Amino acid sequence: MYREELEDDTKMENELKIIKIKDGLCFRIRDMIFVNENLEKQNPKLYLKAIHHETEHSPAYKFNDFFMDLKPEGTFFSSLSFMIRNPRSFKQLIPFFVYDGHFYIDYTLLFLYTILLSILVIKAIL
Ligand SMILES: [Zn+2]
Repeated sequence: MYREELEDDTKMENELKIIKIKDGLCFRIRDMIFVNENLEKQNPKLYLKAIHHETEHSPAYKFNDFFMDLKPEGTFFSSLSFMIRNPRSFKQLIPFFVYDGHFYIDYTLLFLYTILLSILVIKAIL
């Protein structure tokens, strides 16, 4: 996942910071990777895959980042089982995130929810 800040005022750095969180699974904002504090201990393999995935994202959200998140990586079931064990990580599915007074949007999730909602609306009308 990649979450983009609304205003573009932060400087980019080359080094990625890993920040442990209680809510959510793993996502990236610019040079920061946010990862659930229990992931490394409970599932080291998934942790490494998730960190690797986030380092592959570009520093600014681009088309490639969008497609990267839609590509299956074989981590669906291990992610789901971790999320069931750590219910607060389900906050990963909320397409908005506030950190350090800044508001971030997950465009991939927002796009998927828009499609889903459109399908439901169309089905309700027809
Ligand atoms: Zn991603």
